[in-house]
Amino acid sequence: MALRSQIIETIDALSLCLQRLSRGGHRGFDCTSGSLAKLAEWGVAPQARYETLADIRSDLGDCQRCGLSQHRQHIVFGSGSPTAKLVFVGEGPGFEEDQQAKPFVGPAGQLLNKIIGAINLTRSQVYISNIVKCRPPKNRNPQPDEIKTCFPFLDRQLDAIRPVFICALGSIAAQTLLNTPEPISKLRGRFYDYRGIKLLPTYHPAYLLRNPEKKRQVWEDMKMLIKEYPYEA
Ligand code: URA
Repeated sequence: MALRSQIIETIDALSLCLQRLSRGGHRGFDCTSGSLAKLAEWGVAPQARYETLADIRSDLGDCQRCGLSQHRQHIVFGSGSPTAKLVFVGEGPGFEEDQQAKPFVGPAGQLLNKIIGAINLTRSQVYISNIVKCRPPKNRNPQPDEIKTCFPFLDRQLDAIRPVFICALGSIAAQTLLNTPEPISKLRGRFYDYRGIKLLPTYHPAYLLRNPEKKRQVWEDMKMLIKEYPYEA
């Protein structure tokens, strides 16, 4: 690789790293927006700019990459802040989400809204998406080949947002992101590292609607988030 592009890549990576540290509340180095903007100017060649959520949505297009596209009404890409510090990841759209093209707007969404409120945030401050972007027929679990096809788009969304935290809702989200078959009951209750992002698995709101006694454990998980969330940054 030519020296110039190596330098550009290094400065670019440094800039991203400083932004992440700054968002995470770390101090002791210059993370002022002025300095970060300067780094961005130096580092990013026009053709090497990071893609935005709009770029990814446009690449997804009228996706027909897997069989789920045959049954859907709408693609549910994701919604919320493109600079969110916290991203919630669910499993896949349900009936209401498929109709409205928005994640978590049905009964499970109402409960997720309460969870978001309980950590003193609003939906517009976080970002919400799913492992697959089209509703599986009869709300069955997404199949491994469907996940394999769709997940790279979520991964790119996470790269565009670079949140401090991911909260994986339920076993499909947690197992996919952590690449493990462990059940959610074993995975929840601690942070993991997902490519430099703190990942907290917890129970899915739809599961909580059927098993309200598990809400206490979700609240324990949310308290861990509250302790580390950079509210002031
Ligand atoms: N359940 C999910 O996993 N995602 C949604 O968007 C809605 C319900």
